Amino acid sequence: MDKKYHIETDAIHAGQEPDPSTGAIMTPIYQTSTYVQKSPGEHKGYEYSRTGNPTRTAFESLMAALEGGKHGLAFSSGMAATDTIMRLFKPGDHTIVGNDVYGGTYRLFDKVLKQYGLEFSFVDVTDPEAIEAALQPNTRLIWLETPTNPMLRLADIRAISVIAASKSPKIWVAVDNTFASPYLQQPLSLGADMVVHSTTKYLGGHSDVVGGAVVVNNEDVYLKLKFLQNAVGAVPGPQDAWLTMRGIKTLHLRMERHCENAMKVAQFLSDHSAIAEVYYPGLESHPQHDLAKQQMPKGYGGMISVIMVGGRDAGYKFVSQTRLFALAESLGGVESLIEHPGVMTHASTSDSTFPVPASLVRLSVGVEHIDDLLEDLQSALVGL
Ligand SMILES: *Cc1c(COP(=O)(O)O)cnc(C)c1O
Repeated sequence: MDKKYHIETDAIHAGQEPDPSTGAIMTPIYQTSTYVQKSPGEHKGYEYSRTGNPTRTAFESLMAALEGGKHGLAFSSGMAATDTIMRLFKPGDHTIVGNDVYGGTYRLFDKVLKQYGLEFSFVDVTDPEAIEAALQPNTRLIWLETPTNPMLRLADIRAISVIAASKSPKIWVAVDNTFASPYLQQPLSLGADMVVHSTTKYLGGHSDVVGGAVVVNNEDVYLKLKFLQNAVGAVPGPQDAWLTMRGIKTLHLRMERHCENAMKVAQFLSDHSAIAEVYYPGLESHPQHDLAKQQMPKGYGGMISVIMVGGRDAGYKFVSQTRLFALAESLGGVESLIEHPGVMTHASTSDSTFPVPASLVRLSVGVEHIDDLLEDLQSALVGL
Protein backbone atom coordinates (compact mmCIF):
# COMPACT_ATOMS: atom_id res chain seq x y z
CA MET A 1 0.00 0.00 0.00
CA ASP A 2 1.46 3.38 -0.99
CA LYS A 3 -0.93 5.60 0.95
CA LYS A 4 -0.21 6.03 4.65
CA TYR A 5 -3.10 4.81 6.76
CA HIS A 6 -3.78 4.87 10.49
CA ILE A 7 -2.61 1.86 12.47
CA GLU A 8 -6.22 0.62 12.86
CA THR A 9 -6.49 0.40 9.05
CA ASP A 10 -3.03 -1.07 8.61
CA ALA A 11 -3.85 -3.79 11.17
CA ILE A 12 -6.56 -5.02 8.80
CA HIS A 13 -5.06 -4.32 5.37
CA ALA A 14 -1.27 -3.80 5.36
CA GLY A 15 0.62 -6.41 3.34
CA GLN A 16 -2.66 -8.06 2.37
CA GLU A 17 -4.15 -7.78 -1.12
CA PRO A 18 -7.10 -9.88 -2.29
CA ASP A 19 -5.73 -12.99 -4.04
CA PRO A 20 -5.40 -11.99 -7.73
CA SER A 21 -6.34 -15.44 -9.07
CA THR A 22 -9.56 -15.99 -7.06
CA GLY A 23 -10.45 -12.71 -5.33
CA ALA A 24 -10.19 -14.38 -1.92
CA ILE A 25 -10.13 -11.49 0.56
CA MET A 26 -8.04 -13.40 3.09
CA THR A 27 -4.38 -14.09 2.31
CA PRO A 28 -4.09 -17.72 1.18
CA ILE A 29 -2.08 -20.13 3.34
CA TYR A 30 0.63 -21.14 0.88
CA GLN A 31 1.25 -24.58 2.33
CA THR A 32 4.20 -25.39 0.11
CA SER A 33 7.89 -26.01 0.68
CA THR A 34 9.07 -25.33 -2.85
CA TYR A 35 8.18 -23.43 -6.07
CA VAL A 36 8.40 -24.50 -9.67
CA GLN A 37 10.95 -22.63 -11.80
CA LYS A 38 10.70 -22.03 -15.54
CA SER A 39 14.42 -22.43 -16.09
CA PRO A 40 17.15 -22.53 -13.42
CA GLY A 41 16.96 -19.25 -11.47
CA GLU A 42 13.90 -18.03 -13.40
CA HIS A 43 11.08 -17.92 -10.85
CA LYS A 44 8.40 -15.65 -9.40
CA GLY A 45 10.39 -14.50 -6.37
CA TYR A 46 10.11 -17.70 -4.34
CA GLU A 47 12.43 -20.71 -4.41
CA TYR A 48 12.12 -22.50 -1.09
CA SER A 49 9.92 -21.74 1.94
CA ARG A 50 12.70 -21.35 4.52
CA THR A 51 13.95 -18.48 2.35
CA GLY A 52 10.52 -17.04 1.61
CA ASN A 53 6.82 -17.89 1.57
CA PRO A 54 4.05 -15.57 0.29
CA THR A 55 1.94 -15.94 3.46
CA ARG A 56 4.97 -15.07 5.57
CA THR A 57 5.79 -12.15 3.26
CA ALA A 58 2.31 -10.70 3.87
CA PHE A 59 2.80 -11.04 7.64
CA GLU A 60 6.27 -9.46 7.47
CA SER A 61 4.94 -6.47 5.51
CA LEU A 62 2.12 -6.12 8.02
CA MET A 63 4.58 -6.08 10.95
CA ALA A 64 6.70 -3.41 9.24
CA ALA A 65 3.61 -1.23 8.68
CA LEU A 66 2.42 -1.58 12.29
CA GLU A 67 5.80 -0.49 13.68
CA GLY A 68 6.16 2.31 11.11
CA GLY A 69 9.33 0.63 9.80
CA LYS A 70 10.63 -0.38 6.37
CA HIS A 71 11.33 -4.09 6.82
CA GLY A 72 9.73 -6.88 8.82
CA LEU A 73 11.11 -10.36 9.46
CA ALA A 74 9.12 -13.22 10.98
CA PHE A 75 10.49 -15.95 13.23
CA SER A 76 9.23 -19.14 14.80
CA SER A 77 9.16 -17.56 18.30
CA GLY A 78 10.12 -14.40 20.15
CA MET A 79 13.27 -16.15 21.37
CA ALA A 80 14.21 -17.13 17.80
CA ALA A 81 13.84 -13.45 16.80
CA THR A 82 16.06 -12.39 19.71
CA ASP A 83 18.65 -15.08 18.96
CA THR A 84 18.84 -14.07 15.30
CA ILE A 85 19.47 -10.41 16.22
CA MET A 86 22.29 -11.48 18.55
CA ARG A 87 23.97 -13.36 15.68
CA LEU A 88 24.75 -9.93 14.16
CA PHE A 89 27.45 -9.68 16.83
CA LYS A 90 30.73 -11.51 17.31
CA PRO A 91 32.77 -12.81 20.23
CA GLY A 92 34.02 -9.95 22.38
CA ASP A 93 31.09 -7.66 21.52
CA HIS A 94 29.34 -6.23 24.57
CA THR A 95 25.61 -5.71 25.10
CA ILE A 96 23.96 -3.65 27.82
CA VAL A 97 20.70 -5.31 28.90
CA GLY A 98 17.99 -4.27 31.31
CA ASN A 99 18.28 -6.08 34.64
CA ASP A 100 14.57 -6.79 34.57
CA VAL A 101 14.06 -8.54 31.22
CA TYR A 102 11.90 -11.52 30.36
CA GLY A 103 13.34 -14.64 32.02
CA GLY A 104 13.85 -16.40 28.68
CA THR A 105 15.85 -13.45 27.33
CA TYR A 106 18.07 -13.52 30.40
CA ARG A 107 18.50 -17.30 29.98
CA LEU A 108 19.44 -16.99 26.29
CA PHE A 109 21.99 -14.24 26.97
CA ASP A 110 23.49 -15.57 30.20
CA LYS A 111 23.29 -19.35 29.70
CA VAL A 112 23.66 -19.74 25.93
CA LEU A 113 25.22 -16.76 24.17
CA LYS A 114 27.86 -16.04 26.84
CA GLN A 115 29.36 -19.43 25.98
CA TYR A 116 30.03 -18.12 22.47
CA GLY A 117 31.98 -15.11 23.73
CA LEU A 118 29.26 -12.45 23.69
CA GLU A 119 29.48 -10.20 26.76
CA PHE A 120 26.57 -8.77 28.72
CA SER A 121 26.08 -6.22 31.50
CA PHE A 122 22.67 -6.28 33.20
CA VAL A 123 21.86 -2.75 34.38
CA ASP A 124 18.98 -0.65 35.63
CA VAL A 125 17.75 0.87 32.36
CA THR A 126 15.20 3.10 34.07
CA ASP A 127 18.19 5.40 34.59
CA PRO A 128 19.93 6.61 31.36
CA GLU A 129 22.95 7.58 33.48
CA ALA A 130 23.38 3.96 34.58
CA ILE A 131 23.55 3.03 30.88
CA GLU A 132 26.13 5.73 30.22
CA ALA A 133 28.18 4.35 33.16
CA ALA A 134 28.00 0.78 31.85
CA LEU A 135 29.29 1.65 28.36
CA GLN A 136 32.53 -0.08 27.36
CA PRO A 137 34.74 0.44 24.29
CA ASN A 138 33.34 -2.86 22.93
CA THR A 139 29.65 -2.04 23.57
CA ARG A 140 27.70 -2.63 20.35
CA LEU A 141 24.09 -3.01 21.49
CA ILE A 142 21.66 -1.77 24.13
CA TRP A 143 18.79 -4.21 24.66
CA LEU A 144 15.70 -2.68 26.23
CA GLU A 145 12.38 -4.05 27.30
CA THR A 146 9.79 -1.42 28.17
CA PRO A 147 7.56 -1.86 30.03
CA THR A 148 9.53 -4.69 31.59
CA ASN A 149 8.31 -8.16 32.34
CA PRO A 150 7.36 -8.55 35.20
CA MET A 151 8.14 -5.34 37.15
CA LEU A 152 6.52 -2.92 34.64
CA ARG A 153 9.48 -0.54 34.71
CA LEU A 154 10.03 1.84 31.81
CA ALA A 155 13.12 2.74 29.82
CA ASP A 156 13.23 6.16 28.14
CA ILE A 157 13.68 4.99 24.53
CA ARG A 158 14.30 8.48 23.15
CA ALA A 159 16.91 9.49 25.76
CA ILE A 160 18.76 6.17 25.50
CA SER A 161 18.73 6.25 21.68
CA VAL A 162 20.33 9.72 21.78
CA ILE A 163 23.13 8.38 24.02
CA ALA A 164 23.65 5.37 21.73
CA ALA A 165 23.69 7.42 18.52
CA SER A 166 26.31 9.83 19.92
CA LYS A 167 28.95 7.09 20.18
CA SER A 168 31.45 6.09 17.53
CA PRO A 169 31.01 3.52 16.21
CA LYS A 170 27.30 3.86 16.74
CA ILE A 171 25.70 1.58 19.31
CA TRP A 172 22.49 -0.15 18.20
CA VAL A 173 19.33 0.05 20.29
CA ALA A 174 16.90 -2.88 20.20
CA VAL A 175 13.55 -2.69 21.97
CA ASP A 176 11.45 -5.70 22.94
CA ASN A 177 8.02 -4.15 22.36
CA THR A 178 6.00 -7.22 23.36
CA PHE A 179 4.28 -5.70 26.41
CA ALA A 180 3.12 -2.48 24.77
CA SER A 181 2.42 -3.76 21.22
CA PRO A 182 2.84 -1.32 18.31
CA TYR A 183 -0.62 0.05 19.03
CA LEU A 184 0.62 1.65 22.25
CA GLN A 185 4.29 2.30 21.48
CA GLN A 186 6.41 2.56 18.33
CA PRO A 187 10.09 2.41 19.32
CA LEU A 188 11.49 3.19 15.83
CA SER A 189 9.74 6.58 15.90
CA LEU A 190 11.48 7.26 19.24
CA GLY A 191 14.95 6.58 17.80
CA ALA A 192 15.44 2.83 18.32
CA ASP A 193 17.09 0.82 15.53
CA MET A 194 15.33 -2.53 15.93
CA VAL A 195 12.02 -3.65 17.38
CA VAL A 196 11.52 -7.24 18.44
CA HIS A 197 8.27 -8.97 19.35
CA SER A 198 7.01 -12.14 20.79
CA THR A 199 3.96 -12.17 18.49
CA THR A 200 2.71 -14.98 20.73
CA LYS A 201 1.33 -12.31 23.06
CA TYR A 202 -0.79 -9.24 22.12
CA LEU A 203 -0.22 -9.44 18.35
CA GLY A 204 -1.55 -12.99 17.98
CA GLY A 205 -3.83 -12.12 20.86
CA HIS A 206 -5.72 -15.40 21.24
CA SER A 207 -3.21 -17.73 22.96
CA ASP A 208 -3.21 -20.06 19.96
CA VAL A 209 0.11 -19.48 18.19
CA VAL A 210 3.80 -18.96 19.07
CA GLY A 211 5.85 -16.57 16.94
CA GLY A 212 8.29 -13.68 16.78
CA ALA A 213 9.14 -10.71 14.59
CA VAL A 214 11.78 -8.04 14.06
CA VAL A 215 11.26 -4.66 12.36
CA VAL A 216 14.10 -2.38 11.20
CA ASN A 217 14.63 0.63 8.93
CA ASN A 218 18.33 0.27 8.14
CA GLU A 219 18.82 -1.50 4.79
CA ASP A 220 22.17 -3.04 5.71
CA VAL A 221 20.89 -4.45 9.01
CA TYR A 222 17.81 -5.79 7.23
CA LEU A 223 19.89 -7.64 4.62
CA LYS A 224 22.11 -9.12 7.35
CA LEU A 225 19.08 -10.26 9.34
CA LYS A 226 17.43 -11.65 6.22
CA PHE A 227 20.59 -13.61 5.47
CA LEU A 228 20.60 -14.98 9.03
CA GLN A 229 16.86 -15.77 8.92
CA ASN A 230 17.50 -18.03 5.94
CA ALA A 231 20.90 -19.33 7.08
CA VAL A 232 19.72 -20.24 10.61
CA GLY A 233 16.16 -21.14 9.62
CA ALA A 234 14.03 -20.31 12.69
CA VAL A 235 11.06 -19.36 10.50
CA PRO A 236 7.31 -19.72 11.09
CA GLY A 237 5.21 -21.90 8.82
CA PRO A 238 2.48 -20.32 6.68
CA GLN A 239 -0.32 -21.47 9.03
CA ASP A 240 1.29 -19.66 11.97
CA ALA A 241 1.91 -16.52 9.89
CA TRP A 242 -1.72 -16.56 8.75
CA LEU A 243 -3.12 -17.12 12.24
CA THR A 244 -1.07 -14.24 13.64
CA MET A 245 -2.28 -11.94 10.83
CA ARG A 246 -5.82 -12.97 11.58
CA GLY A 247 -5.31 -12.05 15.26
CA ILE A 248 -3.75 -8.69 14.39
CA LYS A 249 -6.90 -7.56 12.58
CA THR A 250 -8.45 -6.72 15.99
CA LEU A 251 -5.25 -5.53 17.73
CA HIS A 252 -6.52 -1.96 18.20
CA LEU A 253 -9.92 -3.07 19.53
CA ARG A 254 -8.36 -5.53 21.97
CA MET A 255 -5.67 -3.13 23.20
CA GLU A 256 -8.27 -0.46 23.97
CA ARG A 257 -10.20 -2.88 26.18
CA HIS A 258 -7.05 -4.37 27.74
CA CYS A 259 -5.99 -0.86 28.78
CA GLU A 260 -9.43 0.10 30.07
CA ASN A 261 -9.86 -3.11 32.08
CA ALA A 262 -6.29 -3.10 33.44
CA MET A 263 -6.63 0.46 34.72
CA LYS A 264 -9.74 -0.52 36.70
CA VAL A 265 -8.10 -3.70 38.00
CA ALA A 266 -4.99 -1.73 39.03
CA GLN A 267 -7.14 0.77 40.93
CA PHE A 268 -9.11 -2.01 42.61
CA LEU A 269 -5.95 -3.84 43.70
CA SER A 270 -4.36 -0.58 44.96
CA ASP A 271 -7.28 -0.18 47.34
CA HIS A 272 -7.22 -3.79 48.59
CA SER A 273 -5.78 -4.57 52.02
CA ALA A 274 -4.15 -7.86 50.90
CA ILE A 275 -2.04 -6.03 48.32
CA ALA A 276 1.08 -4.15 49.45
CA GLU A 277 2.07 -2.64 46.11
CA VAL A 278 0.74 -2.40 42.56
CA TYR A 279 3.00 -1.93 39.54
CA TYR A 280 1.09 -0.43 36.61
CA PRO A 281 2.44 2.45 34.50
CA GLY A 282 -1.02 4.03 34.33
CA LEU A 283 -1.21 4.66 38.08
CA GLU A 284 -0.04 8.05 39.32
CA SER A 285 1.83 6.16 42.03
CA HIS A 286 4.06 4.54 39.37
CA PRO A 287 7.50 6.19 39.71
CA GLN A 288 7.68 6.69 35.92
CA HIS A 289 4.08 7.69 35.27
CA ASP A 290 5.19 10.92 33.52
CA LEU A 291 7.42 9.01 31.12
CA ALA A 292 4.59 6.51 30.54
CA LYS A 293 2.26 9.37 29.53
CA GLN A 294 4.78 10.57 26.91
CA GLN A 295 5.96 7.21 25.61
CA MET A 296 2.63 5.35 25.66
CA PRO A 297 0.12 8.14 25.05
CA LYS A 298 -2.76 5.84 24.04
CA GLY A 299 -2.70 3.66 27.15
CA TYR A 300 -0.62 1.58 29.49
CA GLY A 301 -1.35 -1.98 28.43
CA GLY A 302 -2.94 -4.96 30.13
CA MET A 303 -0.13 -6.16 32.40
CA ILE A 304 -0.07 -5.58 36.16
CA SER A 305 2.18 -6.96 38.89
CA VAL A 306 1.46 -6.83 42.62
CA ILE A 307 3.28 -7.53 45.87
CA MET A 308 1.21 -9.51 48.37
CA VAL A 309 1.06 -8.33 52.00
CA GLY A 310 1.08 -11.99 53.04
CA GLY A 311 4.22 -12.84 51.02
CA ARG A 312 4.77 -15.97 48.95
CA ASP A 313 2.05 -18.08 50.60
CA ALA A 314 -0.61 -15.44 50.04
CA GLY A 315 0.57 -15.20 46.42
CA TYR A 316 0.18 -18.95 45.93
CA LYS A 317 -3.34 -18.83 47.40
CA PHE A 318 -4.34 -15.82 45.31
CA VAL A 319 -3.25 -17.39 41.99
CA SER A 320 -4.87 -20.72 42.89
CA GLN A 321 -8.21 -19.23 43.97
CA THR A 322 -9.14 -17.16 40.94
CA ARG A 323 -11.60 -18.80 38.55
CA LEU A 324 -11.77 -16.50 35.53
CA PHE A 325 -8.10 -15.50 35.76
CA ALA A 326 -6.53 -18.80 34.65
CA LEU A 327 -3.31 -19.84 36.36
CA ALA A 328 -0.95 -19.98 33.37
CA GLU A 329 2.23 -18.59 31.86
CA SER A 330 2.13 -16.29 28.84
CA LEU A 331 0.12 -13.11 28.40
CA GLY A 332 -1.62 -10.86 25.94
CA GLY A 333 -4.53 -13.11 25.00
CA VAL A 334 -8.19 -12.15 25.18
CA GLU A 335 -8.58 -14.26 28.32
CA SER A 336 -7.29 -13.10 31.71
CA LEU A 337 -4.32 -14.96 33.18
CA ILE A 338 -2.58 -14.88 36.55
CA GLU A 339 0.75 -16.37 37.59
CA HIS A 340 3.58 -16.47 40.11
CA PRO A 341 6.70 -15.23 38.20
CA GLY A 342 9.16 -16.53 40.81
CA VAL A 343 8.40 -20.19 40.09
CA MET A 344 6.81 -19.87 36.64
CA THR A 345 7.88 -17.38 33.93
CA HIS A 346 10.96 -16.05 35.73
CA ALA A 347 12.37 -19.15 37.48
CA SER A 348 15.45 -18.82 35.24
CA THR A 349 16.44 -15.57 36.99
CA SER A 350 16.53 -17.18 40.44
CA ASP A 351 20.35 -17.49 40.35
CA SER A 352 20.87 -13.97 39.00
CA THR A 353 21.56 -10.79 40.94
CA PHE A 354 17.98 -9.74 40.19
CA PRO A 355 15.56 -12.55 41.11
CA VAL A 356 11.89 -11.50 41.14
CA PRO A 357 10.32 -11.10 44.61
CA ALA A 358 8.73 -14.30 45.96
CA SER A 359 5.65 -12.29 46.95
CA LEU A 360 5.09 -11.09 43.37
CA VAL A 361 1.96 -12.01 41.38
CA ARG A 362 1.53 -11.02 37.71
CA LEU A 363 -1.81 -10.50 35.95
CA SER A 364 -2.53 -10.36 32.24
CA VAL A 365 -5.88 -8.59 32.19
CA GLY A 366 -8.07 -9.83 29.36
CA VAL A 367 -11.05 -8.31 27.57
CA GLU A 368 -13.86 -9.95 29.53
CA HIS A 369 -16.50 -7.77 31.29
CA ILE A 370 -14.77 -5.72 33.96
CA ASP A 371 -17.38 -6.52 36.65
CA ASP A 372 -16.77 -10.25 36.27
CA LEU A 373 -13.01 -9.73 36.50
CA LEU A 374 -13.24 -7.58 39.63
CA GLU A 375 -15.63 -10.03 41.29
CA ASP A 376 -13.24 -12.90 40.55
CA LEU A 377 -10.29 -11.04 42.10
CA GLN A 378 -12.38 -9.89 45.05
CA SER A 379 -13.43 -13.43 45.97
CA ALA A 380 -9.93 -14.90 45.40
CA LEU A 381 -8.51 -12.35 47.85
CA VAL A 382 -10.97 -13.03 50.68
CA GLY A 383 -9.10 -13.87 53.85
CA LEU A 384 -5.64 -13.07 52.45
C1 LIG B 1 7.14 -14.19 25.85
C2 LIG B 1 8.17 -13.14 25.73
C3 LIG B 1 9.33 -13.34 24.96
C4 LIG B 1 9.62 -14.67 24.28
O1 LIG B 1 8.77 -14.94 23.23
P1 LIG B 1 8.34 -16.44 22.79
O2 LIG B 1 7.38 -16.20 21.69
O3 LIG B 1 7.75 -17.10 24.00
O4 LIG B 1 9.60 -17.12 22.35
C5 LIG B 1 10.22 -12.29 24.83
N1 LIG B 1 10.01 -11.12 25.45
C6 LIG B 1 8.93 -10.89 26.20
C7 LIG B 1 8.75 -9.56 26.86
C8 LIG B 1 7.98 -11.89 26.38
O5 LIG B 1 6.90 -11.67 27.16
